[in-house]
This record gives sequence, structure tokens and C-alpha cells, in this order.
Amino acid sequence: MRLYVRHQLAVALAAAVLALPAAQAQAQEKVLNLYSARHYQTDEALYADFTRATGIRINRVDGDDAGIVNRLKTEGAASPADVVLLVDVARLWKAESDGLFQPVKSAVLEQRIPATLRGKDNGQGSAWYGFSTRARVIVYNKATVQREDVDTYAELADPKNKGKVCTRSGSHPYNLSLFGSILEREGAEKTEAWLKGVVANLAREPKGGDTDQIKAAASGECQIAVSNSYYVARLMRSTKPEDRAVIEKVGIVFPDQQGAGTHVNVSGGAVAAHARNRAAAVQFLEYLAGDAAQAYFANGNNEWPAVRTVKLANPALDAMGDFRQEAVPVAAVGANQAKVQQMLDRVGYK
Ligand code: FE
Repeated sequence: MRLYVRHQLAVALAAAVLALPAAQAQAQEKVLNLYSARHYQTDEALYADFTRATGIRINRVDGDDAGIVNRLKTEGAASPADVVLLVDVARLWKAESDGLFQPVKSAVLEQRIPATLRGKDNGQGSAWYGFSTRARVIVYNKATVQREDVDTYAELADPKNKGKVCTRSGSHPYNLSLFGSILEREGAEKTEAWLKGVVANLAREPKGGDTDQIKAAASGECQIAVSNSYYVARLMRSTKPEDRAVIEKVGIVFPDQQGAGTHVNVSGGAVAAHARNRAAAVQFLEYLAGDAAQAYFANGNNEWPAVRTVKLANPALDAMGDFRQEAVPVAAVGANQAKVQQMLDRVGYK
């Protein structure tokens, strides 16, 4: 990535030295610097459409979430970043509170993106907006577990499921957010007791990613796993026989359909704190809220569009079916992560 940027710079310098008209053209070309933690096949079409519609070229810097956040911090006020795309509200909220974003007031974004899927508006607009949603689902071994024993998050902590549950690290953003949502719904005392119960039910020490948990539930290493919905969808759409074998062994539940609804998280975008092309950056976020961009953005990772009227043709999501989402605002979930981490430390959830 760094090399790529350096290369761009070298090209710009060469153009400036070798041909004045070319250098002038370069200077006039509008460029938006996008730091993205999302990389999918649909990206090229997504960004090309924006360039076609606006004449603004997108200069992409790819990285993982932690890498992008570190880079923004290191670069500080000198950062060339205009737009930042991050995954999970735990990270979006943290980046906002670390001062890496700036608030955006936009009638388009306010009208298109549900209020529960954006950063808190303190009068100057939200610091970030969710553009796609994913659900945190429960996956279970169909041969050994009854669906009705795992159709609520509460049952992850029920003694009837002792020794059956597996998750990735409790401190991973996906789990911090799920637990932050439970905290929002249930309050501190109940949430900490619940976390203690989940730890008591673990089949093994937390390790690996969500896909590893699904595989462990299928193999019998554990029986009940927690996963983001798109990992399930990925396995459902896989043509590899070993993935087919995994997905055939497990059932998928959207928890709490009779109660508060399933925990939903976002992938989101923000205008960088020191953006030089603020107007173009806002234009890009508004573009992401449009119908066509919403479909590309969500489908690229088997997620649901944040704009609920946008329909996808995605066989895995169709197969999973409709479900009731929680009403908890993701901004509140993000804000709970420090409290949740303290609870995890107290109950020994690694
Ligand atoms: Fe992920």
C-alpha cells in the first residue's frame, strides 16, 4: 500500500517534471483518498460508478481495520485520507472517540440511513454512517442440539448448554458489540451474570475467527457457536465440498425473535478528521447511500443494505430469510465497549 502511494507520487512528480500540461491536468483532476478496510469483488464497480457520475477519481489505500486506524493516528493532521471505511461499530465508535473522524450533516444521509445505524448526532451531524448490516447469529449442530435450546442469547449462558458453546475471543470487536448490545438491553448486573454463564458453558478456550467456530460446531468439537451472518452465507455459497459438509451439519438461528430481536452491526463510513476534500468526501458517503451503491456494498460481503428498501438478489441471504432486528442504536453499543471489557476481565472471558 505504502509502495502504491509512493508510486503515485513518483508518477505525479515525473509528470510535473517532464510535461507541464500533463502536470496541470493532474493538478485539476479531482481525487478522493479512501482508506478502506473492506475489499470485495464488487468494489471496482462501486468505485468506477462514482467516478463516472462525478469525475472524481478514487485513490484507494487498503488495509485491515487496525492498520487503517494506526495509520490515521500516525499521520495525524498530515493524513491525506478523505474517507474512511471500517467494519463493526466497536471500531467506528472507537475511531470517532479518538478524534479520527469529523461530523457530517447531510439531508441525504439523514433521510436514507436509519437513525439507529449511525453515530450520535451532537448537533453537527453524525461522525459515521452505517452502510450495510450483519447479524450476530447462533449456529448449532443439528445432530446434537435442539433449535429451541439456542434461540435466545440468554440460552448461551443456560446450564443446559454446559460444555457446548464456542466463540472467538470475548474482546474481539464483534463480541464486544454483541455484549454491548446485551448491556444496553439488560443492564450491568444481568449482563455480567450472563457473561459468567457463557464462560462456564465454553467447550474450549476462545480462539480463531467466526468461521472456525462454525466448523467446530459442525465437527462436534463444540455444539453451539456464535458468528456474524456473512461467514455463514460465505459457507452456504461455497462450492468446496468441505464447506458444503460443514453447512449441512449446522442450523442457523436469529436469536431473540420473540424478544428484543437479533443483534445487528454495521460496516460504516466517515469523513476523515483532516480531509482536504471534504465536499467530495460527503458526496462519496451520499453516493454510498444510493440504491445501486447500497446493493454493491452489501452484496460484496453478503450483508444487508442499510437502506431497507434496497433489495438484493443473494441466494444465501434469501435462504436465511427475514428476521427481526434489535432496536438498540449501534452508537450506544459502541459506547459500551469499555464497560464490557471490564466485565470480561472480571469473569475471565479471554
Ligand atoms: Fe469479519
